Amino acid sequence: MQIKVPFLDLWSQHLPLMSEFSQAIQEVIESSAFAGGPFVAAFERDFAAYCDIPYSIGVGSGTEALWLSLLACGVGSGDEVITVPSTFMATAEAITYCGARPVFVDVDERTYTMNPDALKNALTSKTKAIIPVHLFGQPADMDPILEFGREHGLHVIEDACQAHGATYKGKRVGTFGDTACFSFYPGKNLGAFGEAGAIVTSSAELDQKLRVFRDHGQERKYFHSVIGWNCRMDGIQAAVLRIKLQQLEAANQLRRTHAVQYDAGLGEFDGVITPAQASYARHVYHIYAIRVRNRDETIQSLTDQGIATGIHYPVPVHLQEAYQSLGYTRYSFPIAERCAAEFVSLPMYPELTHSQIEQVIDAVKEAVAGGVEV
Ligand SMILES: *Cc1c(COP(=O)(O)O)cnc(C)c1O
Repeated sequence: MQIKVPFLDLWSQHLPLMSEFSQAIQEVIESSAFAGGPFVAAFERDFAAYCDIPYSIGVGSGTEALWLSLLACGVGSGDEVITVPSTFMATAEAITYCGARPVFVDVDERTYTMNPDALKNALTSKTKAIIPVHLFGQPADMDPILEFGREHGLHVIEDACQAHGATYKGKRVGTFGDTACFSFYPGKNLGAFGEAGAIVTSSAELDQKLRVFRDHGQERKYFHSVIGWNCRMDGIQAAVLRIKLQQLEAANQLRRTHAVQYDAGLGEFDGVITPAQASYARHVYHIYAIRVRNRDETIQSLTDQGIATGIHYPVPVHLQEAYQSLGYTRYSFPIAERCAAEFVSLPMYPELTHSQIEQVIDAVKEAVAGGVEV
């Protein structure tokens, strides 16, 4: 079956900007500022302004942003960091790569983000930090999470890798935690032409630490005050991201419009649970995931009808083979596990057309109703 609606279409996003990209990349080539340098600094200024926060530090990926944030907050061996199992593996990996232990709490049934009421059950004397994840572009409920963090002296690091431009109670995500981490993986709401990421913070001290860490621990070239790593952003990515950042607000707005159309088409349909936007949130729909009972059949039927889909994510992190040693079993986090079994991600990108979304809606109804016309 021919694909009628692809899951993602980056080419349609890039095509109208081709001459701008060519010129920007040429400037990087002409100045040879490939690793770090002025193009990265310019993007950092623009991205900090976009997030409405004083500091932004460009790094090589969202995973590095998480890892360096934890290191800069002093998280290390023997510490525990609380996060959610409904996320991409990188959130937990970064904790493990600091020498700390990921401890999970379940997510809220409606928002799919960290359930703040569950934090107290996960707290121990070793807890050092909390990483809420703004999953699919929906901000986690930050106020009670921050309050819990303050009460117990914990760092809070936002995983905003899926939520560029989302807001919580009218304020940009990224402005709530000690730091916040963004990914510019090509498919994200703001995507590079390769790998890239950024950390934002309002702490001058953390900004300084992170700049040193991401560049081999050197404050001046070849003078290393701490052991760091190479986590620099590259110049071409920064130049491309500066151009794409200018489109981000409009692109997010289109995603939101598409979500309204999906909600209207599928919200009342039996057998489909559409995503809820929390009352505090401006959701930016990195992913539009519905929940269905008979997922395999639904996806097969959608594929047969030419609709591409995804699953984010089929196995919650606490049940990943790589994390068997943590000792979690099935039914540890019933909501995360049920979501992992029921989620189907529908096509979602700014360039989708009204009629493509109608086609997806019709196809989902057909798939879920088992071919009964409705
Ligand atoms: C994409 C993503 C990451 C990792 O970002 P990379 O740039 O791919 O390293 C981390 N957390 C979440 C929730 C993500 O979606």
